Amino acid sequence: MIDLRSDTVTRPCEAMRQAIAQAQVGDDVYGDDPTVNELEKWAAERHGFAAAIFCSSGTQANLLALMAHCERGDEYLCGQQAHNYKFEGGGAAVLGSIQPQPIENEPDGTLSFDKLRAAIKPLDPHFAQTKLLSLENTIGGKVLPLAYLAQAKDFCVTHQLQLHLDGARVYNAAVALNVDVIEISQYFDSMSVCLSKGLGAPIGSLLLGSTELIAKARRWRKVLGGGMRQAGMLAAAAKISLTKNVGRLIEDHQNAKYLAEQLNKISGIEVNLSEVETNIVYAALDENLNIKGITQQLKENGVLITAGNPMRLVTHLDIIKSDIDIFIQNFGNLIKVS
Ligand SMILES: *Cc1c(COP(=O)(O)O)cnc(C)c1O
Repeated sequence: MIDLRSDTVTRPCEAMRQAIAQAQVGDDVYGDDPTVNELEKWAAERHGFAAAIFCSSGTQANLLALMAHCERGDEYLCGQQAHNYKFEGGGAAVLGSIQPQPIENEPDGTLSFDKLRAAIKPLDPHFAQTKLLSLENTIGGKVLPLAYLAQAKDFCVTHQLQLHLDGARVYNAAVALNVDVIEISQYFDSMSVCLSKGLGAPIGSLLLGSTELIAKARRWRKVLGGGMRQAGMLAAAAKISLTKNVGRLIEDHQNAKYLAEQLNKISGIEVNLSEVETNIVYAALDENLNIKGITQQLKENGVLITAGNPMRLVTHLDIIKSDIDIFIQNFGNLIKVS
């Protein structure tokens, strides 16, 4: 199958499967798993933080960050389009008693500091207390500029807020900017990184932060049922994702650009090429197109996409350029007859 639905669909490579089979393990809730311990120590140093915690998912890592930064009755500022507001089941409110304060994202994915400033609550019993600004990079496949991150840091210092990055795809951002990931992570008090997307691990995310913050997160992870036992089997694959699969993300970005250019040659499809910055392509479809029917027929031809308008397509390590040619040929033909 050629699967363009998401970069979460990658399958672990042979080296990961070998590492999983051979991993040294112990009970991680007791702190006894050497492979998890090594990963957390390595990842903290690698990203410029004092501590790290290995989590079952990006949703869990983000929720732990919110629950560690905020207390009951606090609030966090975020984008309307933020994953940890819109796509995580309202977890911060449901499980953390933390109020989200979403702000409309600007077209480039940033949040306006004027709008953020206006949303900060004064110290007054009427209001939830504003504690944290949460950004996302990449967001909708777009990269936040480094200069913006520096401004966000200044903004948070001025207003005594903590700053979190949902860095599920932060390595895509680093590769697109051609900088080391540390150039991005340096501005944040905490950062989550998803290992099970374009980096190709089967399971897992990291949360990075200060020793104190990660200790709080570790307690909440247990409370949320996220304390895993012989998790070294997962950490072994995770380490490979961070050491072997970062450099090649550039191929996913090139493939996404190529995909966008090819889509633009089909009538009734339009992609704004300047918005294809990493591995995600949004294509606007002619309203008369029966995208549900086309999606079903593509599936019968071995190609998986998500029906939608705009149509969101994602490249990843299990997609090569010739897969895109196959998709384009099939898609073009189906549009002609529909
Ligand atoms: C996928 C994603 C997450 C959550 O990751 P899961 O591992 O699927 O829970 C968080 N933030 C962003 C921006 C994501 O794309």
